[in-house]
Amino acid sequence: MATHRLLLIPGDGIGPEVMAEVKKVVAFFNERGPDRFESEEALVGGCCYDAHGVAVTDETVAKAKAADAVIFGSVGGPKWDGVPFDVRPEAGLLRLRKDLSLFANIRPAVCYPALAESSSLKREVVEGLDIVILRELTGGVYFGEPKTITDLGNGQKRAVDTQVYDTYEIERIARVGFELAKKRRNKLTSMEKRNVMKTGVLWHEVVNQVHEREFKDVKLEHVLADAGGMQLVRWPKQFDVIVCDNLFGDMLSDIAAMLTGSLGMLPSASLGEVDAKSKKRRALYEPVHGSAPDIAGKGAANPIAMIASFAMALRYSFALLDEADLIDQAIAAALAKGLRTADIKSEGTTVVGTAQMGDAIVAEMRTLASVQ
Ligand code: NAD
Repeated sequence: MATHRLLLIPGDGIGPEVMAEVKKVVAFFNERGPDRFESEEALVGGCCYDAHGVAVTDETVAKAKAADAVIFGSVGGPKWDGVPFDVRPEAGLLRLRKDLSLFANIRPAVCYPALAESSSLKREVVEGLDIVILRELTGGVYFGEPKTITDLGNGQKRAVDTQVYDTYEIERIARVGFELAKKRRNKLTSMEKRNVMKTGVLWHEVVNQVHEREFKDVKLEHVLADAGGMQLVRWPKQFDVIVCDNLFGDMLSDIAAMLTGSLGMLPSASLGEVDAKSKKRRALYEPVHGSAPDIAGKGAANPIAMIASFAMALRYSFALLDEADLIDQAIAAALAKGLRTADIKSEGTTVVGTAQMGDAIVAEMRTLASVQ
């Protein structure tokens, strides 16, 4: 029986509340197997600033590097609005992403049948949707140099951002995309703007090379990113995995997020390179939402994004695919019974708190596991 080391980072606001529900899921698997999880906890964000004067300590970064997976809640809140920029709560998360070289951001957009009415799109467009947006996270225009605003001296200023990608950066994100697609419906869509951008030309060329060399059996299509945005809201079910650069990925993943209804439902994974020696890859799993200060402490937060983030850890870090499916099916079952946290409530449903939703999901896991 394998044992995996988790570093749990609850963070601020609703972070600790939703992490408490993940701990119930971890306890379920420790009881049932097949693998065991050893968990350690660390402070990151405002709570770490209060304790240590920084958003994350070197010790926590070292623990995150040593862990098999980092499970992250959320950080920030008005209490820390006035702290210096470099120690603001979000700086802790950004340092973890950077120091762990987490270049691949995976955001699934899954629309549970019970929630199809919560989307701003028509039911038939989103019901049963299950796609993944893969965003390059450590390169591109957000990091490229020069990045400047220059005073031209004639009452005008000039702002410059630089979009830069090297071959290796495109190769490694493309590889993650093809590997993901192989485990799903075997189709990868690459989005760029090669009609107007040199980075788009190189992106297109390198994705084709990786396909030709290593993943000929996966269906590859190329769509210009603007047309891709349109297709995402027109008929999103045509896609399986979409891979794009940092900027397009930022926008397209937010569009995809809205297809599913609520922020409280969206998990994510950020992956690093596979270590040649250990064959393991560094990874951080977190809900897309923030610390929701407006509802923190009320026991009203939706724990589904956090629990589904743990399911992603089972899938991508530990290859426990059946166990990941068990969590996803349990979430769908709890929703199908009409249980809703306040953010996803609708007429005729039963509103429950964070802990009740967590308990209901674990109860569904027990039921589903006993009939399997
Ligand atoms: P937010 O995601 O915290 O909240 C936006 C809205 O969605 C709020 O009304 C909130 O109540 C609701 N919401 C979010 N998650 C929910 C959940 N699980 N269940 C029910 N409702 C939920 O975004 P914000 O208000 O812009 O930011 C609040 C704080 O969180 C800020 O300090 C921000 O910097 C921080 N933040 C952190 C992260 C992170 O830790 N990765 C991400 C985004 C924002």
